[in-house]
Amino acid sequence: MFTIANLRKQFLEGVLTPKKLMEKTLADIKAKDKDINAFIDVYDEALLEAEKATKQLAEEGEKSAPLLGIPVAIKNNILIKGKRKAAASKMLENYKATYDATIISRLRAAGAIFVGSTNMDEFAMGSSTESSYFGITKNPLDNKRVPGGSSGGSAAAVAMGAVPVAIGTDTGGSIRQPASYCGLVGFKPTYGAVSRYGLMAMGSSLDQAGPLTNTVADAELIHNVMAGLDPMDNTSIAPDTYKEVSIKEKYTFGVPKKLLVDGIDPDVFNTFNRHLEVLEAMGHKIVEVDLPLFEKGLAAYYIVMPAEVSSNLARYDGIRYGLSVEADNLLDVYQKTRAEGFGREVKRRILLGTYVLSSGYYDAFYGKAELARSKMRQELNEVFNKVDAIITPTTPTPAFKIGEKSDPLAMYREDIFTVPVNLTGVPALSFPMGMVEREGVSLPVGVQYIAPHGGDNRLFAIGKKIYDERL
Ligand code: GLN
Repeated sequence: MFTIANLRKQFLEGVLTPKKLMEKTLADIKAKDKDINAFIDVYDEALLEAEKATKQLAEEGEKSAPLLGIPVAIKNNILIKGKRKAAASKMLENYKATYDATIISRLRAAGAIFVGSTNMDEFAMGSSTESSYFGITKNPLDNKRVPGGSSGGSAAAVAMGAVPVAIGTDTGGSIRQPASYCGLVGFKPTYGAVSRYGLMAMGSSLDQAGPLTNTVADAELIHNVMAGLDPMDNTSIAPDTYKEVSIKEKYTFGVPKKLLVDGIDPDVFNTFNRHLEVLEAMGHKIVEVDLPLFEKGLAAYYIVMPAEVSSNLARYDGIRYGLSVEADNLLDVYQKTRAEGFGREVKRRILLGTYVLSSGYYDAFYGKAELARSKMRQELNEVFNKVDAIITPTTPTPAFKIGEKSDPLAMYREDIFTVPVNLTGVPALSFPMGMVEREGVSLPVGVQYIAPHGGDNRLFAIGKKIYDERL
């Protein structure tokens, strides 16, 4: 299996070198990415870095940094100094990052080599990677289908076998949902566990960066490299911020059964029920839990998120970053630049966000959504007094076809199980729970485990037992 753990072992045994691996990675990308379009930019100098890593590994052996020589792909909204970072938008088509995101510095210090920048929905708004200015990304498992989104390029890069890990960002499901569609592990940390410094903000109170990998152990390794307090991000937290979330032998898992009736694909539902049977056979306990406010998650998310989007994207005004369309006066520059630079979905969300924040509507919409959010958090904390983790399917359907969800509301429904996690700030892990068949093709579907705040390690422990050990 293509994992960091196996590559590291092969490096140390001397049967593989970072240089050989990188040659294969770059060749793989050249061969496959014309069709898949997972990458916006590929960094050929990665080969030089791999040569250096090969020497360093020969000198330092076991003592070398844990990711030395490991090729990693990075989403197009995470800054790497000197690299073009466009958030897949025309607005930033030629924008070069002027500094490294904190997670980039940490990955680099651990020896990782960045091989390229991955495609995504424009400014991370979407569930299919169809809204990218750089063209759609296809699902490597069935190229008539989407890889999910918004981190679809990151998921596709791992699913096509080019890299063992890619980094994504998750505002409402953008790591977990593409992981589910592409048969991967995807992790959204506790809010604040990972610094947002150097991430292009979408919804600042929701965004977190995390890994897409083939195993839970790899996701854990990458997360631990990236996580930790950062003086450059005041919302980042130390690992001991929340009371300790213990690791156990047997768990009690809560299933919000009432949530699982509406709009969920019957094959996904059956696969999920079979997963619950496996858990019971392993000696875990399954109980039904009530999370009535979770159902309101989508409604609250599509108010809070656009509100934050409209304020975060105000900086792209034609003056400070990227595109600038010439005009006779300043107001026209703003208007023409934004009209030309942003795509439809981004504009829709800016309009929606400006509306819910405008005086007269603020209390009716934004204020209420924030209230619902704190109630959801209360509701969740009460449930976590009774269960160790909550389980849902990650998405209500397997990967859908390119072009199938042209109605934005149909697209938003894909996020029904993932957005409550971002609204409440808890961590969640998605890994494959089985396959469903569509038109003769087997497609993976993911299961989502949600833990209390600070329970990131509990999720890794659960995932390693339930997924990695049974691979
Ligand atoms: N699909 C969700 C949205 O469109 C989530 C996006 C994300 O997590 N970045 O907002």
